Amino acid sequence: MHSNITTKTPPALIGMDHADLLHLCQQAEVKSVHAKQLNAWVFRHGITDTRQIPDLPHALYDYLDGHVGQLKPECMANRMAEDGTHKMLLRMPDGKEVETVLIPGPKRLTQCISTQVGCAVGCQFCLTATAGLTRNLSAAEMVSQVMTARDISDQEIRNLVLMGMGEPLHNYEEVAKFVRIVTDPLGLAFSPHRVTLSTSGLVPGIYRMIEDELPCNLAVSLNATTDDVRSQIIPINAKYPIAELMTAVREYIKFKDKNRVLIEYVMLGGINDSSEDARRLITLLDGLGCTINLLPFNPFSGTTFQRPDDATVSAFRSILVNAGMVTVVRKSKGDEISAACGQLKTEVTARRSKASFG
Ligand code: SF4
Repeated sequence: MHSNITTKTPPALIGMDHADLLHLCQQAEVKSVHAKQLNAWVFRHGITDTRQIPDLPHALYDYLDGHVGQLKPECMANRMAEDGTHKMLLRMPDGKEVETVLIPGPKRLTQCISTQVGCAVGCQFCLTATAGLTRNLSAAEMVSQVMTARDISDQEIRNLVLMGMGEPLHNYEEVAKFVRIVTDPLGLAFSPHRVTLSTSGLVPGIYRMIEDELPCNLAVSLNATTDDVRSQIIPINAKYPIAELMTAVREYIKFKDKNRVLIEYVMLGGINDSSEDARRLITLLDGLGCTINLLPFNPFSGTTFQRPDDATVSAFRSILVNAGMVTVVRKSKGDEISAACGQLKTEVTARRSKASFG
């Protein structure tokens, strides 16, 4: 019913990169210097009502009135865990909801951004996968997650990770635009070293990142060391098997010139957590200088996967560390607020349907 609201409304200013803002100035027949002014007021100061931006030429105010819109998602749920993890459920103008999470670090926050409503990849250990893909998010909707979190939080957001709902490389154009907007020094000005795109292994997308010199880091959600196991838990592995994926990672590292690629490894009890797996992982990553992030599985209702016990995680990590691999075990943050990808959305939806059925 609401599906075409976004296409009928004028494009949101927060989804525009510097080239788009320059184009607006050209169309309004004003000097291009005003594009910089728009960049600063919209992204640095968060003023998205164009009439509130001071000192623009009248012709530009008038042009903006008719040609750009605002995008302010509604915050439907807002939870803070004891460890400071802060999760928000945001409703977009067409009624679709996405999650974004603020994860505390020693001094600054990391924000996890969603790139799609749902996801088509179908990873077996992921709650978001259970509902399939509804639609892609626009660059503006991704930027709106950052701007909403910035308004709500009193701490500086220092890192952005595209690891929320969705496979970023399935929505390449909008994700690339988002990356360019957030790293634009005239606007939100995140360092490209502090923006990380995480993929489940879409090989052509990795080559596209190289070709486009996309200003961000790469993370690969590997999660298995044999094609047999990986294809069972991440179906796209049948199309892009581990060897092809690792070739793309090697090419990416060559292009990035010593920039580390992050390898994420969700540990599933009895599936991919053996000492043989750890040794195969060492062989796969030999010489790449990657950082390995071990993520003991965070079980959700209905899953048959289990979290490995602490001793297994620790033994797995030791094998990697002893082989000289930089390995971090990510502590599960925000368990009590359903912080795993897709959990808050599922919980809120379940509560709503319970309420509507009495
Ligand atoms: S883990 Fe990521 S890529 Fe896999 S289904 Fe979930 S959201 Fe999609």
